[in-house]
Amino acid sequence: MGKISLKQVTKAFGDAEVIPPLDLDINEGEFVVFVGPSGCGKSTLLRLIAGLEDVSSGTIEIDGREATEVPPAKRGLAMVFQSYALYPHMSVRKNIAFPLKMAKMDPAEQERRVTAAAKVLNLTDYLDRRPGQLSGGQRQRVAIGRAIVREPAAFLFDEPLSNLDAALRVNMRLEISELHQSLATTMIYVTHDQVEAMTMADKIVVLRAGRIEQVGSPLELYRTPANQFVAGFIGSPK
Ligand code: ADP
Ligand code: MG
Repeated sequence: MGKISLKQVTKAFGDAEVIPPLDLDINEGEFVVFVGPSGCGKSTLLRLIAGLEDVSSGTIEIDGREATEVPPAKRGLAMVFQSYALYPHMSVRKNIAFPLKMAKMDPAEQERRVTAAAKVLNLTDYLDRRPGQLSGGQRQRVAIGRAIVREPAAFLFDEPLSNLDAALRVNMRLEISELHQSLATTMIYVTHDQVEAMTMADKIVVLRAGRIEQVGSPLELYRTPANQFVAGFIGSPK
């Protein structure tokens, strides 16, 4: 589960072609980071995969199934938003269970999944609190919990740590990496932060103006950058 293939995918907003034809394969269980400067199309690409935007042309396959016409909720993917997307008036438990409640899942199964997610995320003692009574890192974990309970084929993160302070960012980076190791689920992680990319990724996709400049492991990109742009962006000499 969690194999994602993009074939000749394009996206235009009006006359502006933001993503020229793009091919990309993401393997089961991989931690893939999309990195590139602001405005290069990282969020657009993630939203196309999530189904929050329609492709202009091309196809996206998820686990061998054509997903281009499948609505977001049925793609089996879970997008993790920044922690400020939590409902302030609801308890942590209700925030985490929210997508399951919307899907009208059996309450006992909801409870089982929330309990399991809280355990993985060290939130067991905080389930009855409201988001306002939590630290920034705990709030971000609740946002991740809301994705975990859906048991998705892949997690999609769009700069989830950008509104946390530097120390907490380092911490959450490690926590997300650990979560990836324990769940072994595909994760696609968007960031403009080279350090996040280099420390978290199995595979880095370097984007520039909607084009893929290079795909490779952090070490490959560091040792053999495809061009000056990648070298400059990754911070290695060429
Ligand atoms: P990134 O996430 O890498 O910063 P985005 O994917 O948000 O970049 O944006 C890529 C380009 O597409 C930018 O030029 C942006 O202005 C444009 N864009 C994104 N969303 C829209 C939209 N809904 N309508 C028009 N242009 C958009
Ligand atoms: Mg973005």
